[in-house]
Order: sequence, then C-alpha cells, then structure tokens
Amino acid sequence: MSRLRPSIALALLVALIAGAGFAGCSSTNPYYAPEKIHHRPDGFVNSDGQQVSKPFSMLLRWWRERWSQGLPAAPAQFVQGYGGFEVRTPDVEMLRDNRTRTTVTWVGHATLLVQVDGLNILTDPHFSERAFPVQWMGPRRRVPPAMPLGALPRIDLVVISHNHYDHLDRDTVLALNRQPGGPPLFAVPLGVDLWMRDQGISNVRRFDWWDMFRLPQLPGAELHFVPAKHWSSRTPFDRNTTLWGGWVLRTPGFSFYFAGDTGWSPADFEAIGARLGPFDLAAIPVGAYEPRWFMGEQHVDPTEAVLIHRAVRARRSVGIHWGAFELTDEPLDAPIGALPAALDAACVPREQFEVWKHGETRVLR
Ligand code: ZN
Ligand code: ZN
Repeated sequence: MSRLRPSIALALLVALIAGAGFAGCSSTNPYYAPEKIHHRPDGFVNSDGQQVSKPFSMLLRWWRERWSQGLPAAPAQFVQGYGGFEVRTPDVEMLRDNRTRTTVTWVGHATLLVQVDGLNILTDPHFSERAFPVQWMGPRRRVPPAMPLGALPRIDLVVISHNHYDHLDRDTVLALNRQPGGPPLFAVPLGVDLWMRDQGISNVRRFDWWDMFRLPQLPGAELHFVPAKHWSSRTPFDRNTTLWGGWVLRTPGFSFYFAGDTGWSPADFEAIGARLGPFDLAAIPVGAYEPRWFMGEQHVDPTEAVLIHRAVRARRSVGIHWGAFELTDEPLDAPIGALPAALDAACVPREQFEVWKHGETRVLR
C-alpha cells in the first residue's frame, strides 16, 4: 500500500475523509433483496431511502473555509495542547485474567474493549498511526491508543460498524486474525465480508440490519446488527457498496449498544430502543461534527448524541469517536465541554453520559 502514488493518495484523501465520492458506480450488490428499503441493486441507502450526498462543490467550500480559518484549532481546554489528553494505562493483567466481571475500556476513537462473562469483544479496532490507506499521509493520531495491540487479552469477537478507515483498519484486523489461540469471529456489515475474504480473513459472519446471531460461547448471548444513518467507501469507486450500522450485544446480565458512526435518524434510534433496549451502556459518537452544514447528515453532534441516548433508552452512555483523529473542524477536545452543556440543556443528569479518559476502564458488574 505504501507504493500508492501521491496524486492518487491525495485524491483518496479528498474523497474519503470528507464524504464526497464519485457517483455512477457500476458494481452490483450480491446481497440485493428488493423487498428491503435500504437495499439497491448497486449497494445500500439509509432507512429513509436516501444516501448521504455531498456534491464536490460542497467539499471545495469546506476545504476553502478550513484553510482560510486555520481549522481545526488546537485543543482549547488544555494549555499543554494535545499533551493535555491524559492517557491512562489499562490494568492489562486484570483484563487478561478477568473471566467474570463486566468491564469496558476506551482504547480511543471508536475502539472499546468490552468484557462480559469471560468473552472479550472489540469494537471497530484501530491501533495504527493513521486512518488512511497509507501510513505516510492522511489523518494522523494526536493521541495514541491507550494500549498496544499485543497487550490485549485474547479477543473472541470483533464487531465492525462500517468500512471507513477510522473504523476498519487493515493492519489491525490482520494482526487480530493472527492472535495466539486462533482468530476472533469478525462480525461485519453486508459486503465487508468480501473485503475480509480478500485480506485472507475467513472467520467472518456478515449481517444485514436486524440480523441476530447467538454467540455459541455464552448461553443466552445475542448479537444484533442495527441501522445507522451513514455511508461507506474505501476508494473513490465503491461508495455505499457495503452496509453500515451499529451493534447490540445482549447477555442475560448486560446489554450494550455500539452506535458506530451515524447522523441523527430518530426513527432508527427509536426502533432500536423499542426492539432491543433498554441498555446498561451505550457507546455513542460525540466528535467529528463541525461544520454542521457539511457534517450534519453523517455525524451527530453532542446535542444529537444526547437525543440518541434517550431514544435508545440507555441507562448510561460513553462518548466515542473523538480524541484521536482530527477529522473535522472542531478542536479535538471540544466534546469535553460540549457534551455536559448538551446534557444540561436537555435536563439529562451529567453522570448518565460521560466522556472517559483515554484508556479508562469501568467495571460495570
Ligand atoms: Zn464513517
Ligand atoms: Zn468515523
């Protein structure tokens, strides 16, 4: 991948990060089911029948604004700049030995290590330096992962929300596929299974929205794939040819919702809450949201994240999708102040929905 020419890589950067893509993809959707509202012969759309669309003129306007205003600004709340982000070192020994307690560790961005009844689960694992096809350009981490990949306990299950580079990192999934003790099960949206196959990863299960799978390792444990309002692509030519969504894990003693990457879509979140809620913990994105005129369709802001928290009937939530990559215009630390303000405005107690320190582990049960 490092042989990619700079001109091609720059075109990818423009197309991928911002949400612009080239229309007119000629591929066919091997999983097309005409009766499903979000299926199309050449890919997928959101539950409202629409795609998140961004004409090239909007992209150019955004880039011009960013350049002229010097955005994103450095972290506003830390005099030490990016060094103000406190990265805690997870208690690796405890996590490796734990077979009984329910714990959740925020590794960074959308990567969480969830431990339930001896099962180790990773969400959207990303342990690389950049969220891009090559490691010599593209969005670079401002804050490192809280633990190295090699320090993880053996992972049983990896859930992938969609194929954007900050959620599906090739080097990370290949390393997990080689972990001692055998590969984890990779649970992926429709179409991402084909990408996995091309990487030589075979322990994969593909999901459409509302599909459910009973985890054989844990009696009574169910994994569900649920809708989100977003889009997909890894090249300028594969826009929306693979599906996107969130994940629900329900065990006899713990229920967890991982929203992935999403815009505000009340009907989807109310359906998730009604069918599968309430949740003991929800992981909801709170970052990568400005400017709203450009990002609003695909990424919620903290105010909308609070609406998701309510709609899915979460008892507690953790803010994800912030604090690692500067993908958009707001300072990287903006959610630290914006989320409590949004909770106050909605009369939701602050302790119900928090951003955690990088590397913080919460023992929930
Ligand atoms: Zn995305
Ligand atoms: Zn993302």
